[in-house]
Amino acid sequence: MLRPQVDWTARAVRQAGLLQPYVPGKPVEQLLREQGLSEAVKLASNENPYGPPPASIDAIRQAAGHVHRYPDGDGSELKQRLANKHDVDPSQIVLGNGSNEVLELAIRTFAGPGDGVVYSEHAFIVYALAATAAGADGVAVPESDGLSHDLDAMLEAVDARTKVVCVANPNNPTGSLHELPAIRAFLDALPEHVLVILDEAYYEYVADEIGDSLKRLHHPGLLVCRTFSKAYGLAGCRIGYGLADAAIIGLINRFREPFNVNQLAMTAALAALDEDAWVKERTAATLHERGRLEQFLQSHGCLAAASHGNFVLLRHASADTLLLNLERRGMIPRPLAAYGMPDCLRISVGLREENDLLMTMLSGLLDELND
Ligand SMILES: *Cc1c(COP(=O)(O)O)cnc(C)c1O
Repeated sequence: MLRPQVDWTARAVRQAGLLQPYVPGKPVEQLLREQGLSEAVKLASNENPYGPPPASIDAIRQAAGHVHRYPDGDGSELKQRLANKHDVDPSQIVLGNGSNEVLELAIRTFAGPGDGVVYSEHAFIVYALAATAAGADGVAVPESDGLSHDLDAMLEAVDARTKVVCVANPNNPTGSLHELPAIRAFLDALPEHVLVILDEAYYEYVADEIGDSLKRLHHPGLLVCRTFSKAYGLAGCRIGYGLADAAIIGLINRFREPFNVNQLAMTAALAALDEDAWVKERTAATLHERGRLEQFLQSHGCLAAASHGNFVLLRHASADTLLLNLERRGMIPRPLAAYGMPDCLRISVGLREENDLLMTMLSGLLDELND
């Protein structure tokens, strides 16, 4: 049998050793098995609780009979539709297997060994993982309040080795948001050689609040990432995209595998783009429910900060006990120990009845803990 060369193995092991495995929200099936329950509510992955747009379900059904064919590797139809929506050229768009893939591809394209990737300490963890996987040095910049990107400190952290800067707006898991003028000033102050990834996975939840980032922000190295996973309800399809100068997209495309986005996902996304009213209605319902949850947490003294995403942030000294007891009752929040926030739980905004159930459970548990 052929044996892998020793140095190849050593390099892979060394590289993997640097990587903390990404711990996703616990799947419902796993909790049911662990706890011997028959029902559970997952509020751990910022999914859209209302399901996919019905038009996307129909589109997937119709496309199912064609999956013996490879997808359109260029994604031309979806890119053209997105180009119309955002008033750009299709050559300024790259599609990804989730916006997660776009983030990874972009970091891999622009940063390698010896290069720096700058992000905020409690920013979305994928930036750090992708930087390490690319062999680059991740530079985590502390936040003055432990929650919100400190854009001035991030600017100071940028040096000649910095190839990529990541900004999550709003950020997950902290829910923090910067207004566009602040982002614009940040972009203006950055050197031109830096690629800036503006991760707008939750854009639809703040669109009315901050306005059109694509129209109001300009920087030669700006890559804006959006996704169909959150407000559009297609997390399981895995589809997102990046928007940037055609030269940047052209480079990223060289690192992209030929058929990275599957046909069912593209078909579902195309259909979802015609469902603005559906998306707006559910987004508004989520914002309303988020208000109820935050009011509840506030009145119980455990709201960490106001969130701008489709989730809320609970802070309590006994967060680990709360987590354990919620899981015993079939409720799945997201622990944030992996983010260095062991006293926090991130809770996705669910359906009204799910949120009611959560608040009932939390009421009882918090009373017990405070006794
Ligand atoms: C959910 C999320 C994403 C990635 O979502 P995809 O499903 O890969 O499109 C990217 N950035 C942030 C901040 C997120 O919370």
